[in-house]
Amino acid sequence: MSNVSGNLFVIAAPSGAGKSSLIKALLERHQDGSMEVSVSTTTRRPRPGEVDGVHYHFVSEETFLKQVDQGEFYEWAKVFDHYYGTSRTVIEKTLANGTDVFLDIDWQGTRQVKAAYPGVHTIFILPPSNDELERRLRTRGQDSDEVIAKRMAKAQHEMSHYAEFSYLIVNENFDASVNNLEHIVMCQRMRRSKQQIRYREVLQNLLHE
Ligand code: 5GP
Repeated sequence: MSNVSGNLFVIAAPSGAGKSSLIKALLERHQDGSMEVSVSTTTRRPRPGEVDGVHYHFVSEETFLKQVDQGEFYEWAKVFDHYYGTSRTVIEKTLANGTDVFLDIDWQGTRQVKAAYPGVHTIFILPPSNDELERRLRTRGQDSDEVIAKRMAKAQHEMSHYAEFSYLIVNENFDASVNNLEHIVMCQRMRRSKQQIRYREVLQNLLHE
């Protein structure tokens, strides 16, 4: 691809904010290989419909901790009951290839990425209200009130970290939110530092450099 390195984005949200659907919709608009979502490694069990290597790399706790020791993760965290981590080599290779990478990770992982890679662009997605969040969590399945209350508490905890992120999207209208996400991504691509590399020849011709 191009010799311009890709941009790294973190997209975080409480469960029920619509993060996965927004990322999916953005990728559907850009099927040119210019953006990818990183596939994390986790010790949690696959949910129905989840495919190993597509949604996550599902591994045992022993394997995960060995990979931690071997420095294979760019970042990793225990999110509630399970471990989750982002592969270092895949991220580095994909960015070097000029592809933008989205990390769908929690606030703990985001802190590590910000420390290791200050150029990362961090985006937080919020639901428009707690009532709407609860409604979305309820329409997902036939979960008991107790399960829903637990999910709401987890969501509150994740949302309490929103101020650590550079961009906020309040997902009230889905299409508007996809547009907003796309604008944030495109804005980084248009930075002069990137465009100067991408359009080196054009600039040389224009300015007889
Ligand atoms: P789930 O189990 O519902 O797929 O994800 C639970 C939480 O773990 C979500 O907040 C998700 O963003 C986060 N998560 C998924 N992959 C990673 C990862 O590689 N690193 C970190 N730090 N969090 C992750």
